[in-house]
Formats: sequence, structure tokens, C-alpha cells
Amino acid sequence: MRVSVLRAARDLAVEDRPRPEPGAHEVLVRVGSVGICGSDVHYYDHGRIGRFVVEDPLVLGHEASGTIEEVGSAVEGLRPGQRVSVEPGVPDLTCSQCLAGRYNLCPNMRFFATPPVDGAFSEYVVVHSAFAHPVPDEIGDDAAALLEPLSVGVWANQKAGTTAGSRVLITGAGPVGLVSLQTALAFGAVEVTVSDINPSRLALARDLGAIATVDPRSASLDDLSKAPDVLLECSGFPPAIADGIRALDGAGRAVLVGMGGDEVPLPLARIQERELTVTGTFRYANTWPTAISLVAAGRVDLDRLVTGHYGLDQVEDALQAGRRDEHSVKVMVHPNG
Ligand SMILES: [Zn+2]
Repeated sequence: MRVSVLRAARDLAVEDRPRPEPGAHEVLVRVGSVGICGSDVHYYDHGRIGRFVVEDPLVLGHEASGTIEEVGSAVEGLRPGQRVSVEPGVPDLTCSQCLAGRYNLCPNMRFFATPPVDGAFSEYVVVHSAFAHPVPDEIGDDAAALLEPLSVGVWANQKAGTTAGSRVLITGAGPVGLVSLQTALAFGAVEVTVSDINPSRLALARDLGAIATVDPRSASLDDLSKAPDVLLECSGFPPAIADGIRALDGAGRAVLVGMGGDEVPLPLARIQERELTVTGTFRYANTWPTAISLVAAGRVDLDRLVTGHYGLDQVEDALQAGRRDEHSVKVMVHPNG
């Protein structure tokens, strides 16, 4: 099978590798669509993300969907020909965090496209059967792949307690900000405001239901007509984190989704005076059923985010699409053409 391999920073090549065999509890998936994530771009540019360093050739891509080609001997309930969305992290399912249901915090997680685990820019991948989620026909391959970033938005809103009547501020209108916006509305939020410096992304946020948008270069988050009770911080940009927290109403909840670096200044006095809750999120747990339902029911539109399509030979081009074009939101790779 053909595979796109990152050999070192800015060094990507298509190679032939033997097609993997599924283990007893695994399925072999013929990959249909793979979304490109900021983390893929970061690995391509720098060969590392924090403590994760690309030392051996690595296959990128962790937002994937496809069709089951083969099932392992012990797999029940899945069959060849079924379309699935791939949940790209497989925990050990035996540690105390896994047993408590928080498998995203499993210290032994094996996650796609995170050294040394290969990802999905590949004609075929093997997936643990519990993490290959069947999708109905109304969810296309691109949307099925984007259930992964949608899961980040679902998890963030669950952590934030977004509910009927919530007023939500989202800082950062990248793909995760835009799915968090749609999820907040689906959870019953009535006023969702989105801030970003990219005008085309703000326009898309309004199209997707944001009641207001803010460009922080020309307006302040303090001037919102009504203070939000939820902040979903999706930019990772330190001033946005601090300004977003400062904008919250009393007893508000801030969920930090964007990667902001190891240490960032926070408005501590405001957190104390207003009894704010600030929490992190790390990936997601048990979100696929909700994500599938929201998309199948038309409450979240993932296809609206897709701005480009590339083959396996064009992964390098796809990884640079965001830098080339400010209208780019989410580009998809189709390893089987
Ligand atoms: Zn575990």
C-alpha cells in the first residue's frame, strides 16, 4: 500500500509498505478521507510537538474515515463494507483512569500520528474494533473524518456545562472553534460570540449561527452587551486566553482547548473575585455517539468547513494550504484517490 511518510521536518515522501493485517480485535480500514489538523502542520514544520519528537519516519493524519475491508477473528458487530469513522486513540482499557471512564487521560494511550504511532495518510489502517464507529449514509466520508475535531468541540461544551440559554464566547474561529460554535448551539446556547482576526472565518462563524463576531484588534471582549457564562478558548493565543477569562460573568466557566504553550499569564484576581472555573481539556472520551447523532440529525454541518481536497501525492501541498490561503479552513486528503 502507498503511505505518505514524514522522514524529518519538511521532508515528506510517498513510500510503499506492506498492508497491515488486523489483529484479533482489530479491523482493517480502507481510508476514504483524512482531515489535516494543526498538529500535522506543526509536526511537518518542526518535526516535534513539545515532548513528542519525530525520531523515526512517521505517518501523519489522525482525522480519518473509511470502509472496513477485513475484520479480525474476534471482532463482533462489524463487517467488511461498513463505513466507519476512526477514533484515533486506543487506551489500555485497564488503568485507573480508563476504569473511571476517563480514557483520554490514559497514560498508555496510543494515538495516531503521535510518535511512535503512525497515522492515516495511508491507503489502509488497522483500528481497534471498539474505536471504529459505524456511520449512517447521510454522513459522507469527509464529515465522518471530521467527527474527530467535532469530538473536541463536544467534549469542550460538555466540560463547560453548555446548556439551554447559555451565553458562550469562543476565542479562535479555526476548525475547532467553528465546531465548538455549532455544538454550543446544538446544546441550547442562545448567544454565541466568536472572536478571531481572520475576517473570512468570522463570516463563516456568522453563517453558522454566531450572534456576534469580534475582531480583537478593533474591539474589546469587555464590550460584549451581556457577559458570557462560558468561554471556549480555541486559539491558544495568550492575550485571547486572558481577555476571554476577563470577559466572563460571575461563576463563569472557562475551558482551555487551544494549545497556548506551557505557561501563560492568567487574570487571577478576576478568577477569584468572580469565582470562575478554569479547566483544561485533553482530546475527548465517549464523544463519538453524540457527534454522530448531531451530524446525522443535521444539527452540525461539517461539510461547510471543507475547503480543499488532495491526493496522497499532494500531502505536502495540503499541509501548506492554510498558510497559502486565508480562506482555507479544513483541507482533506484522500489516500485512495
Ligand atoms: Zn488506561
